[in-house]
Amino acid sequence: MDAFRSLVQHSRAALGDTLTFVIFTSLADEAGFQPIFHFFKACVKNGWLKAYQIQAKSADTALESTTAKGMLKAHLVEAPAVLAGVWLLWFRRWMSLDNPTPTSFKSFAMQLVGTFLVSETFQYWWHRLEHENSWVYRHVHKKHHEYSKVTPYAANHNAALEVAFTITLPSLVWVHLFRHSFFTFLVWRAWGTFQNVLVHTGYQFPFLPKGTERHDWHHSHNKGNYANWLTIWDVITGTDATYVNWKVRQAEKEDGARQADGVASKAA
Ligand SMILES: [Zn+2]
Ligand SMILES: [Zn+2]
Repeated sequence: MDAFRSLVQHSRAALGDTLTFVIFTSLADEAGFQPIFHFFKACVKNGWLKAYQIQAKSADTALESTTAKGMLKAHLVEAPAVLAGVWLLWFRRWMSLDNPTPTSFKSFAMQLVGTFLVSETFQYWWHRLEHENSWVYRHVHKKHHEYSKVTPYAANHNAALEVAFTITLPSLVWVHLFRHSFFTFLVWRAWGTFQNVLVHTGYQFPFLPKGTERHDWHHSHNKGNYANWLTIWDVITGTDATYVNWKVRQAEKEDGARQADGVASKAA
């Protein structure tokens, strides 16, 4: 923590508070994004981890190249500009760069767990509203659904209003609600970015919540499964009912096909 504090103080002395906030936050975002994004892109390209791939349907390369062009502009220009605005209009009045670290490990861990649970709840209800209100769907969420299956690119394929209301504003509200230090804010931003790519990787691992598999179905069917990563709100409110029925029918079809294969091989 001392090393982080001294890094922040050196950066402030050399570059000023606004650039320090923008550079540290951009680096946290990229740390959460780049490794997982490139790892799963390599998995798709080289056929790694195939046993965990949700569907083998090939990617829409034209759409991915459009997203890639938009991503470059978003990461290098738009996001830093928004962060500078956020600092100047909002954060500089209260976020302390003099004391940029949490008071204890316990408070840091509790703030992150609390933020995670509140964020998952918010993301469920907001995502559900995006689908249930046609104006919000058209202007905010429709662009994200141009992908009919998840791929690491889909995480970054969003309308400007989606970025503002689904990603940027909530992360700022959580800072106020949970009184994040600058360090906690950076860790949360890195985690939020990482988790957004994680639900769009197209790979579901058995030891993780079923968020990626369910989100893939959400993209292909555009119905229900509104949860972000934890599936709990879909289960409680029943918005996963169509998906659960679909899974049962799929399992029955696979059973039927296996039995038909067995009969055919016996007859042969
Ligand atoms: Zn959606
Ligand atoms: Zn998505």
